[in-house]
Amino acid sequence: MLGLFKKNKDEEIKQPKEEHQEFIVLSKKWDVFLDKINTRFEESIGYAEEAIMENLVESDFDIHPTTRAWHGMKSQLMSMMNKIDTTFDEKVKPQMLAYKEDWELIDEGQKGTILRESIYERIERYEIFIEGKIAKKFYDHAIQLLNHDFNCTQCSAKIEVRKDIFRSHYVSCDYCNTVNTFTPNTKIAEIRGFAIDNIAKYNAIQEWDEYKKAQNAFNQIRPPSKNEDKTKYITGFIEREETEKAFWLKYFVERSILLPEYKDTIDHDVNVKMKHFYEERKRKLNV
Ligand SMILES: [Zn+2]
Repeated sequence: MLGLFKKNKDEEIKQPKEEHQEFIVLSKKWDVFLDKINTRFEESIGYAEEAIMENLVESDFDIHPTTRAWHGMKSQLMSMMNKIDTTFDEKVKPQMLAYKEDWELIDEGQKGTILRESIYERIERYEIFIEGKIAKKFYDHAIQLLNHDFNCTQCSAKIEVRKDIFRSHYVSCDYCNTVNTFTPNTKIAEIRGFAIDNIAKYNAIQEWDEYKKAQNAFNQIRPPSKNEDKTKYITGFIEREETEKAFWLKYFVERSILLPEYKDTIDHDVNVKMKHFYEERKRKLNV
């Protein structure tokens, strides 16, 4: 169960001496329920990938029904998070209140919160993964459409179109110099509109994991008060900055490989993405 509900030592010592037998039963039932939700979540994610990829091929690479199907699945996955809250509030807690006070149930509620947050994070990551998979498969299909013959309107000679801009552009004919306009079809335009962004994110997923790890570690650090030592807190900020920057850098580099016109703005683009971080650091550390 991923060690999600492992209690730390302090909590074990704090256990009240006489735990009501019925309460222990309720608490165990609640653990079993959370375990089931977690299992069902993991299973659903497994099915989702297969179904989505099939959908893409069946729709002849129309990404709209495929992304719609994925969004439907995503909201089903999200609804598991609500199920945790409503089950605790409407069923578990009212029963437990027969044995304990409201404030004594904070730990029990916390078990649900931890699983909910973990599910949220896994959906966030899974979205990058699944949209990246769709985008890659779509890209491989759509890029071939660019190889179809495009002929000069004047002399019918074959004209090469550029394979790295994916939008309308002028191409002059090598034979008669007539300037032709190449207009991409919807699928080729979607390479630009949908695929490249998602492939770039997918290729940066390792950096994403590092970035999330640093963020979670930071969230465990209690902000120091005025006269307290700030070293740990500052180190947390540095880790976050490095990993988040590395993620965006990787993302923009990957994007520029597929769309070279973005190459010159990488540094600027990374800075725009990091703005929220520097604002937060200014607010909390005044640096
Ligand atoms: Zn021509």
